[in-house]
Amino acid sequence: MFEDYQKLEQTGEPEQRFAKFAGFPLYCRETLSGTRTMHTRPIQDRIDWLLDLSRIHSKRFCDPENHLARQRYQAEHSTEIVALKCMDGRIHLPYATQTPMGIIRPFRNLGGIFDLGWPYLGDLLADLVGETVSQGRRVLVIITYHFSKGDSARGCAGFDCDQAAALAHAQQIKQQVETIFGAGHQTVYPLVCGFETDEDALTLHHENGVYLDLSTLVNQAREQVKSDIESVFSDMPDQIRHDLMPLVEGNLRHIVEIRKSRRELAVEHREWILCVGRGFDFLHVPNIALIIGPYSPDLSHPIQKAAAIIQSNMDKGRVPDDGFLLLCSAPYQEPGPDRARAEMKARFMAAFTARVIDECQPLLAKKMIRQTAILNWPTRRLEIFD
Ligand SMILES: [Zn+2]
Repeated sequence: MFEDYQKLEQTGEPEQRFAKFAGFPLYCRETLSGTRTMHTRPIQDRIDWLLDLSRIHSKRFCDPENHLARQRYQAEHSTEIVALKCMDGRIHLPYATQTPMGIIRPFRNLGGIFDLGWPYLGDLLADLVGETVSQGRRVLVIITYHFSKGDSARGCAGFDCDQAAALAHAQQIKQQVETIFGAGHQTVYPLVCGFETDEDALTLHHENGVYLDLSTLVNQAREQVKSDIESVFSDMPDQIRHDLMPLVEGNLRHIVEIRKSRRELAVEHREWILCVGRGFDFLHVPNIALIIGPYSPDLSHPIQKAAAIIQSNMDKGRVPDDGFLLLCSAPYQEPGPDRARAEMKARFMAAFTARVIDECQPLLAKKMIRQTAILNWPTRRLEIFD
């Protein structure tokens, strides 16, 4: 599968390259055309485009070739990769590491702020680790924070752009992972990871201020990078290091592309979608959506912050002010009670979020277009019912 990506990288047009991180070995130029200017279009066009994206994603996800390629990838890279991330639409780990969709399991909240004492989050993570370990596999927990090297004002809204505070919080989560799953890191490895949004470059942190900044390694031979990682992360099990390497190599390629593309450095917020719930994998386009997982016992706080970001995007003319989309979704595995409960959860989140926005941003609330959905997890098909 990666050979296909490499070929694409050398020959593909920008829109084809956009397609590759969606986990599709095949080009889908037609479906992603106009992606780069989509945020300037009227709201109904944007919503139609988004729903097309979700349909295409499901179709490609179910394609036999892709299905087998994913299985093969997972057989070769058995580590389960979990990523704790900020809701910020710029923080797109599969995109920045050129990893096929469906490999990294995202958990999102405002600022990447999590507490493993939160009952639902703690249960989900414990179940995931239990299931993975019972299959004889390991877990890599990537704990991300983000910042901008060009201007601290482009940092994380969840920490008032304070990079040190964001890093300190990520390190606290690492300690929580160690408290629950052990400090020897042989089964569950917590990796604190900085995401520099000007170049989408990752910084991998070890202990005591030792870290590897991938933006400084792009010209190094891959073997050298590998041995740097080996010497810095000497406590990392071989299998996890083997499975981390494709992400590192993907990020190094991505940084080179970003530098070549001379992307506007002031990558500011441009989100026009607020997603609440789980199952937003199909959004493989960065900087269009703020995604809030249903984890914090106080969901209203991240929702208020997200609403303020969308309002400011409209005020500053970064997106049209003709509307924004509230998309709530819950995944389900099976028909019957599981599906019925997913629907109930999605309805609850939609009503709750709408109420919070009504209270904190009444003007923005008038521009809200609500869509409520459930996601058929095995096929990744989004079913909109409201
Ligand atoms: Zn953030």
